[in-house]
Amino acid sequence: MRPAILNPLFAPVRGLPGIGPKLAPLYDRLLAPHGAEARVIDLLFHLPVSALDRRVKGRIADAVAGEIGTFEIRTVSHKPGPPGRAKSPYRILVEDDTGDITLTWFNTSRARMEALLPVGEIRYVSGIVELWDGHRQMIHPDRVLDAAGLSRQLPFEPVYGLSAGLYQRGLIKAAKVALLNLPDFPEWIDPALLGRENWAGFTHSLRSLHCPSSLAEINPLAPARLRLAYDELLAGQLALLLMRARMKREAGAVRSGDGKIVNTMLAALPFTLTDGQKQALTDIKRDLASPERMLRLLQGDVGSGKTVVALLSMTMAVEAGWQAALMAPTEILARQHYERLKPLADKVGLTIALLTGRDKGQSRIQTMVGLADGTIQLAIGTHALFQDSVKFHKLGLAVIDEQHRFGVHQRLALSKKGDAVDVLVMTATPIPRTLVLTYFGDMDVSIVREKPAGRKPIDTRTIALERLDEVANGLERAMASGQRIYWICPLVEESEDLDLAAAQERFESLEKLYGARVGIVHGQMKSADKDAAMSNFASGKTQILVATTVIEVGVDVPEATIMVIEHAERFGLSQLHQLRGRVGRGAERSSCILLFGPLGETGRARLETMRSTNDGFEIAEQDLRLRGEGDVLGTRQSGMPGFKLSVPDKHIELLGIARDDAKNILNHDPRLETPRGQAVRALLYLFERDEAIKLIRAG
Ligand code: ADP
Ligand code: MG
Repeated sequence: MRPAILNPLFAPVRGLPGIGPKLAPLYDRLLAPHGAEARVIDLLFHLPVSALDRRVKGRIADAVAGEIGTFEIRTVSHKPGPPGRAKSPYRILVEDDTGDITLTWFNTSRARMEALLPVGEIRYVSGIVELWDGHRQMIHPDRVLDAAGLSRQLPFEPVYGLSAGLYQRGLIKAAKVALLNLPDFPEWIDPALLGRENWAGFTHSLRSLHCPSSLAEINPLAPARLRLAYDELLAGQLALLLMRARMKREAGAVRSGDGKIVNTMLAALPFTLTDGQKQALTDIKRDLASPERMLRLLQGDVGSGKTVVALLSMTMAVEAGWQAALMAPTEILARQHYERLKPLADKVGLTIALLTGRDKGQSRIQTMVGLADGTIQLAIGTHALFQDSVKFHKLGLAVIDEQHRFGVHQRLALSKKGDAVDVLVMTATPIPRTLVLTYFGDMDVSIVREKPAGRKPIDTRTIALERLDEVANGLERAMASGQRIYWICPLVEESEDLDLAAAQERFESLEKLYGARVGIVHGQMKSADKDAAMSNFASGKTQILVATTVIEVGVDVPEATIMVIEHAERFGLSQLHQLRGRVGRGAERSSCILLFGPLGETGRARLETMRSTNDGFEIAEQDLRLRGEGDVLGTRQSGMPGFKLSVPDKHIELLGIARDDAKNILNHDPRLETPRGQAVRALLYLFERDEAIKLIRAG
């Protein structure tokens, strides 16, 4: 149970002053993972990206064009536009002892302006100063305040990331109220570290970020920011260590068979394994056979052939007399795995079943019964696999695909479905070493570096968006020879509806060219329609598939040879690499066309990296440098409750300290019972690592 003092932080933001039924959904979209309600804590952890200096400092004569100025002024005169023309500018001349400046509004009324700036009275205005015909002016000042208003104004005003429909002012107000809900926490950080780093307490630090008293205070390397990043990393490391300790406590099981079924399956494969795949299987075989529990991460670039490693591992477990399960992050992917693996399973006489949230009625019941009585040996599915109602007869191995999309508790949920379940997690995003530590702790790692032989390199080209029609028109030739094309539509960050509209529009324009050969798939489609769209594309019924990023993970259509990505500059590097990995899987030469809009420095660097290398590990390292962790792991897209406050490239040094500290804490106080242990519990709740606390109790 979460301590009661934390409850106000986990209450929804809906209902905070200024957040009514109309705005609440916008806050949910900005702050909460898909479909969830934003809570006060989400708002508090949504840190400002910068701050504006709103101090009344200079006089009008000192104003610098292009910068924010905040002045104490007296209103001289009003100059409304000509009567009857509401759209014409409304000008107000204001002054101080050193000079004057014209304030300009559009679309306003005389009554409003006269109430805002009565002639002869003192007010405080703040906004960007411009020079126009040698005269100072300010268009739509950000703030016009009286003395009382000024006293409530923050001298340094935080600037928050927003989503469509929200305004800075609203966020500032909401954050201020949210701060009032912050209790004082007992200190969980070691006093020596606190002193050495010159950190203030958690509450104080969070306050100073939302209400900074200098611009420097919100810098990612400023003490308050470092402290919060540290807290987050510490909570993460504690959770990982607790999980690790728990798994170690439960003895593993020795799982080894005579190798007959595995060998039959190897013989049935249409290819021979790469060295990397063989090595990974050797590692896994040894883990399964050892009495220690397996906790292994299988890392391999997209297209390196992890699925077959999963299948063979699962077969080893079954051969030893256990059931095995493979969990995929999306329905499409689970279904694809199932369709791919079923023929192989059939060939060697293993029973296999699919379970997703969508399977209902009789077939679902049948699957559940088969899992419970052990007649189903291999289970493929989504997170539906670890719902409470699903029981396994004798689960021995859980394989989790595209691991980073699942949280620690989901990993645990599946591994708790059996006795000392061995766990293999697979990730297609080559995760830089530093992040492996952050996310997985000291898991064993197998890496599949090389791609299967015979793969042709993908020809990557960058083309300006203006030439989109040319690209679209040029697809006919490839289609005539049976090739397939993915066409990925831009990601519109603030709004899923816009995302969709863009994809829909592209679909229609391509349909005009190619008629029924064009299909579309996006995240908001019903899953049956998604499957239909995917299978039409896989079978060749459609040859162009317009998609939002739903196809990002794992989908495998060997005939797909062209990947077009619109507004490629809006995607993260790793995401581009993942998308590109959808082609180049068959015998044909493949290409990836990156259509770019206006490019900033980062966008340019990203596209250049894409052109120059095909190595996922290199790309992941670059991505980390260019953008920070969220995008490397795709968390922003999937909304994993992950790391909000720490950014590895900035805070990586803290990670090592946090690991040592976490070890130290648990060595001295494994059940978190001392006063510091109690404080640490609050930390774990705060960062929603409380599943780890349950592990303590259960132990
Ligand atoms: P990922 O690691 O991205 O999940 P997949 O497991 O989907 O990759 O494999 C990509 C493709 O490569 C599949 O079509 C698979 O059948 C094929 N493949 C896997 N291993 C080999 C191999 N050793 N030789 C040739 N093709 C392989
Ligand atoms: Mg895969």
